[in-house]
Amino acid sequence: MRLTIKIGSNVLTRADGSLDITRMSALVDQIAQLRAEGHEIIIVTSGAVASGRSELKHITSDLDSVDKRQLFSAVGQAKLINRYVNLFRDYGIKVGQVLTTKEHFSDSEHRKNQENCIRVMLENEVIPIVNENDTISITELMFTDNDELSGLIAQMTKSDTLIILSNIDGIYDGDPNDKNSKVIRTIEPGRDISEYIQTAKSSAGRGGMQSKSSVAERTAKAGINVVIANGKKDNILISLMNNRANTICTEFVC
Ligand code: GLU
Repeated sequence: MRLTIKIGSNVLTRADGSLDITRMSALVDQIAQLRAEGHEIIIVTSGAVASGRSELKHITSDLDSVDKRQLFSAVGQAKLINRYVNLFRDYGIKVGQVLTTKEHFSDSEHRKNQENCIRVMLENEVIPIVNENDTISITELMFTDNDELSGLIAQMTKSDTLIILSNIDGIYDGDPNDKNSKVIRTIEPGRDISEYIQTAKSSAGRGGMQSKSSVAERTAKAGINVVIANGKKDNILISLMNNRANTICTEFVC
């Protein structure tokens, strides 16, 4: 199976904003195992801005939001990819960085070029690690968030499944903080779930459940199963792939 796995900022960062290397390392272990089981993997990772922000805590000047995003992502992306390279190296797995912008999905020349880059990486057993190029993305032309990017990458690479890892178990049928609420396990095409979508957003990333569910609906419509699950749970990727029926998650079936 070809899998696109999106790892959110909140999965990769600790409460103080620093990169959670233990979590990252556990996810890399699982991805290495899934590869050994024959799956082809594409990673879409967030965490650049969050990790740059924690690295540059001493910066107190009044930078505007664009300057901040550019500065933090430039520093944070270098740190993030460096970690991935080192963690995958322990398994002898090669990874490569793909930084992209929204224009690369609309203009057909750019699109073809990007598609080709990911294809040649996969053919040569290199795991593409994709993120938005936040250093040069223009505010008006940014992806809504990396959920949107992951849906586009899953479609571009004709993935069988898109797994969106966040810090929540899935889509609840009520307030996630209410202990009577349950995670909706399966969402069939055409089912209206708008009443269940919480608008609250988590702290580190740009996305939220609203954007996850609309990306999931769109991507499932394009023929790709989408799973939303909690990336902070131990062994989540292995359980999703090998024992999904007994793993808490929300699956949008296509
Ligand atoms: N591209 C951003 C980063 O790596 C994350 C965007 C998002 O939160 O979805 O920091």
